[in-house]
Amino acid sequence: MLGTIPDKIEYDERELRILWKDGKECRFDLLSLRKNCPCANCRGGHELTARRTTGHIQSIGLTSWKKVGRYALQLSWSDNHDLGIYTYDMLREACDKGTSYMPPDER
Ligand SMILES: [Zn+2]
Repeated sequence: MLGTIPDKIEYDERELRILWKDGKECRFDLLSLRKNCPCANCRGGHELTARRTTGHIQSIGLTSWKKVGRYALQLSWSDNHDLGIYTYDMLREACDKGTSYMPPDER
């Protein structure tokens, strides 16, 4: 599936941008990504716990990323948290649906 293979990955202080092999570009708000960290620590298996764990975060920066196998990205955050593995499937799905990780409308 070309749609879940990243061609180019970039980030700045606000967002992560992925250009997929099929030509689509997705933008992800960093704070939303951090708050939605899929790791066990942040999720705790319960939605409510997840909110409590990451709910206080007001701002965040991305310090680095690396590819995990052929299926995911591991993001390292400015709060020294780097356990979250964000699968390409999950990122692409969120992008296609325009839901959880999309940046808030700035207009
Ligand atoms: Zn986490």
